[in-house]
Amino acid sequence: MSEATPAPAKLYIIAFDYVEDWIPEFLAEFIRDKYGLACQILPKEPVLPPEFFVPAIQAYVNSWAIEHLFDRLPADGKWILGITSLLLWSYSEQALTQGSGSPERKTAVFTTARLGLCLHCFQTLPAYVRYQLINITMHELGHVFGLPHCNNKHCIMTVGWMAPPLDYCDACRAKVDAYLAQNR
Ligand SMILES: [Zn+2]
Ligand SMILES: [Zn+2]
Repeated sequence: MSEATPAPAKLYIIAFDYVEDWIPEFLAEFIRDKYGLACQILPKEPVLPPEFFVPAIQAYVNSWAIEHLFDRLPADGKWILGITSLLLWSYSEQALTQGSGSPERKTAVFTTARLGLCLHCFQTLPAYVRYQLINITMHELGHVFGLPHCNNKHCIMTVGWMAPPLDYCDACRAKVDAYLAQNR
């Protein structure tokens, strides 16, 4: 028998509450393409555990969600990405946040709330939703893969990008490639 090529490392996606089914499917395909990883979607769950929900701010606490998702990572998986449609609150930033990613926990979480809203016409634009889904996934997975924020305003790892970056700068791309070469 010839030597089998080892299977690529696996990233799990789990969606909660009102996240539409096409979103994890769309992102799983993107992640397979972009990073060359295996990607599997876990069965959808109605809600994140209520103890992570803070009624006063009507939001989940992102760091608690990260801990929960880390515990949920199946044994054959290396990373996990959680998606909620409810708001996320960051205690460290004392603000609502779009998402976060932890290299220690190998976990990212983000919210689809407020994605795709055009601030000119106040309508949700489907193409803009897909564009932002890719941006946020690449940014938070960048953190999971060990990248800090980047000073290059045209890089997906910058904070509060203005121009459409849609990709890592050369330096960040090299770090992602090096990380994945070690961990794939
Ligand atoms: Zn960030
Ligand atoms: Zn960069």
